[in-house]
Amino acid sequence: MKRALLRNIDNTNSADINEYIKISGYASLLKALEMKPSDVIDEVKTSGLRGRGGAGFPTATKWAFASMDPKFPKYLICNADEGEPGTFKDRPILEKNPHQLIEGMIISAYALSAEYGYIYLRGEYPNACNILNNAIKQAYGKGYLGDNISGKGVRFHLHVHQGAGAYICGEETALIDSLEGKRGQPRIKPPFPVNEGFLSRPTIVNNVETFANIPYIMEIGGEQYAKIGSPQCPGPKLFSVSGHVKTPGVYELPMGTTLREIIYTHCGGIKDDKKLKAVIPGGISTPILPADKIDCPMDFVSMPRYGSMLGSGAVMVFDESTDLVKVCLRAIKFFEHESCGKCTPCREGVGWMRAILKRICDYNGRETDIEHLLEVSENISGNTFCPLGDGAATVVQNFIKHFRGEFESKIKI
Ligand code: SF4
Repeated sequence: MKRALLRNIDNTNSADINEYIKISGYASLLKALEMKPSDVIDEVKTSGLRGRGGAGFPTATKWAFASMDPKFPKYLICNADEGEPGTFKDRPILEKNPHQLIEGMIISAYALSAEYGYIYLRGEYPNACNILNNAIKQAYGKGYLGDNISGKGVRFHLHVHQGAGAYICGEETALIDSLEGKRGQPRIKPPFPVNEGFLSRPTIVNNVETFANIPYIMEIGGEQYAKIGSPQCPGPKLFSVSGHVKTPGVYELPMGTTLREIIYTHCGGIKDDKKLKAVIPGGISTPILPADKIDCPMDFVSMPRYGSMLGSGAVMVFDESTDLVKVCLRAIKFFEHESCGKCTPCREGVGWMRAILKRICDYNGRETDIEHLLEVSENISGNTFCPLGDGAATVVQNFIKHFRGEFESKIKI
């Protein structure tokens, strides 16, 4: 498949606006500005694009809610707070193809009548911050940002805001609170950000990869885009692959490519030709899959049928030598560290699961510990303010579901 999101990244100067323009960069924006904003939204609807941040919500549906809201001003936010362990798929766009993201945001802002936008960037990406700020400056210089974009009377201003390193600020309402200068904690929903978001105004929050798809949709048309990959979840998808594969990295492939193909065709198979033991397919909070489940098409609709989720497309591969109880403990330590503390089941329960897992890993586990872990996780599931608590519970439940024997062998039941 011809690359659409990472098409220019082999060019060492790919972040420069002139290089981007050489490959028809900003042509999609000029095309969109000749259309009515509602027609741009219709084109995105025809494409079938779903958000690439993890939830897979249809992008045009989200946009329609905000565009119908009569309140002004409206805000556009790019969620570039890529902090889930295993997830680094947005990084090449931010560092090597920033103008495709910026162009996608300008087109989206035009469609939604938003005049101000923010890129909320994870604090651990200082390099990307410099690159984005330089790219934004270049876009202002060429008249693609400002008060009169390309002489069409359209206004859009864009700023980069660096996060301070909290994973929870990748949750859109916590992100908005953080952007407003408050402590980053999730808000209760409803109201949803599309109606009451940044500064209580209609706000669209989309992921980096989602915005980077917009110029491509405008270039080839929604109908053509809808033919790429899975019929129910079309388009190109970035997969960040890490762990025990021969060639880890970020791969742009059609949505619906199977896990087997990603691991064995694109990543060269398992390192040192060992046997595959398990895969976490979409970032640490998505359910782990055993080796016999890797024929699943990686898309938002198919993955639940195989007992997992596409998530962000962050594939973590574990070979036969991996101690999965230790991996489970490491994952729960992460969630405990990142819990914002707002709700009790997550704040207390995740720490409790960490303590039990720690003693199992130290060979001090008790006979009742597995049931105890499951009980605590069930009391977290569905009882928390945001998906972080559910994510932690899901990790424990699925590790035990598929690899209970490993837990038992450490406890010696
Ligand atoms: Fe905070 Fe955890 Fe509750 Fe989310 S689930 S609001 S991270 S305490």
